[in-house]
Amino acid sequence: MTVDDKLGLDVFYTDEGKPHIEIDEGYEVQRDIDKLLLACPAGLYAQEGGRITFNYEGCLECGTCRVLSGGKIVTSWNHPRGSKGVEYREG
Ligand code: SF4
Repeated sequence: MTVDDKLGLDVFYTDEGKPHIEIDEGYEVQRDIDKLLLACPAGLYAQEGGRITFNYEGCLECGTCRVLSGGKIVTSWNHPRGSKGVEYREG
């Protein structure tokens, strides 16, 4: 079983309308943006028309983006509320 196969078994309980991670979508320093594009294991960061975009649904709550952004792009990082968020099944 591959890592992708295992991650595909995880279940996500989305906290609709309450993102647990917020970013500065106007941030423009490409080398900092590249770090998140490359490092997020769930591939939740993207870039469209030069702007960074983010979707908190499917977050693995690993904290990588929080550490790598150094407070520049990620403006708020919290675990999802209560019973929301990822439920790991196989790692
Ligand atoms: S916490 Fe991890 S999985 Fe979630 S957005 Fe940040 S890098 Fe991606």
